[in-house]
Amino acid sequence: MQGFFDDSELPTVSKRKSKKLSCLQCKLYSDCISPRMLPSGDGKKGIYVLAEAPGRTEDEEGVQLVGKAGTFLKDMLAPMGVVLDRDCIKDNAVRCRPPKNRTPSDIEIESCRLNILESVEKYAPKLILLFGAPALESFVGARFKKALGGISKWRGIVFPDRTYNAWVAPLFHPSFVMRSEKKPVIKKIFGDDVQAALEYLSVPLPQIQDEADCVRIVEGFALETLLSGLLERSKNEKIKLAFDYETTGKKPHAPGHEIVAASLCWDGETSYAFKFPLREDELTLFKRVLRSPRIAKTAHNIKFEDTWSSVILGVKVAGWEWCSMQGSHIINNKPGITGLKFQAIINFGLFGYAEEIEPFLESIDPKNANSFNRVKEIPEKKLLTYCGIDSLVQYRLALKQGPKIADIARSQRM
Ligand code: SF4
Repeated sequence: MQGFFDDSELPTVSKRKSKKLSCLQCKLYSDCISPRMLPSGDGKKGIYVLAEAPGRTEDEEGVQLVGKAGTFLKDMLAPMGVVLDRDCIKDNAVRCRPPKNRTPSDIEIESCRLNILESVEKYAPKLILLFGAPALESFVGARFKKALGGISKWRGIVFPDRTYNAWVAPLFHPSFVMRSEKKPVIKKIFGDDVQAALEYLSVPLPQIQDEADCVRIVEGFALETLLSGLLERSKNEKIKLAFDYETTGKKPHAPGHEIVAASLCWDGETSYAFKFPLREDELTLFKRVLRSPRIAKTAHNIKFEDTWSSVILGVKVAGWEWCSMQGSHIINNKPGITGLKFQAIINFGLFGYAEEIEPFLESIDPKNANSFNRVKEIPEKKLLTYCGIDSLVQYRLALKQGPKIADIARSQRM
């Protein structure tokens, strides 16, 4: 998905990841035996293995993953039906050995990134295994402007990558697993993660339409028709509705706070976004939708939509059915992964739709919970598109979570 803004419209954000770097800035080539080591392996199963950096043995032999960590990985993959050199393409986040095997720096990883991405494009793998934090930073870092968090946050996740048409699995680095021999659970987790990732070789990648194209911006008669139609349909069938607000702050209680936009999605295909304030007849219909117990509501963190509906619109929302944030906690309760934007990446491969908008949603006074933000500076169409994508993703997420949580509940009863 393309960004929403021209550079001139953006508030100050880090440009660290947009600099063009190369071997000239990195210089690792100048102090190793096998500089600029090209990927190796036959790649028969379409697996791209990205490790950290060549070690001493790799540098001496000019081939990736032939030292202790590589042998460990090879031995682990073999019983899973994967021959490392035959079935995989092997590469490193930096292609020259760092002195004394030190961890590559961010600048070195960034300098080498283009080499890696060009090779991934060339080999067009079905599955990309990212071993360790430098591999994660190399492959994902340019598309994720916030701090990535450690590999522990990402491991165990397999997500669809729409840019490279492949499944991507971040994993511990084999060296870390070897160093953790006193904690056998680490080896067990690593083996389970690798096995789970390999199963995706036979899973087709989801074909997902650009979410921005699924958002319809509605107002006036079109909005009234939409809301009346929804209420009418709810007389005969139960409707599942994801809804989302954009607001002037995190909490609605300080005088002057407003709901600025809302969006609704009830089929997972199209999302309808509209701006506030609504005209009186539109508002009446919208409140009826919120109050209808026959329209089952979903949101990501329902406390937010519930509180703003109550304080700003004076409506007690009926029919709450699903909180996709709670669902995310139940499925995987690691810190830092249950937010909607992270869930959009790991479930749908949707990167970056919020990164340009979020600085405007930050509190002007971070120490004050009732502080205002700069949401009103966001151009209207962009805000509504962003809001629409939120409810679309929420709906799809809730749909995906239901069967997973039922499986978890079943396995706990056994
Ligand atoms: S690690 Fe990559 S960017 Fe750095 S010198 Fe070697 S090939 Fe060039």
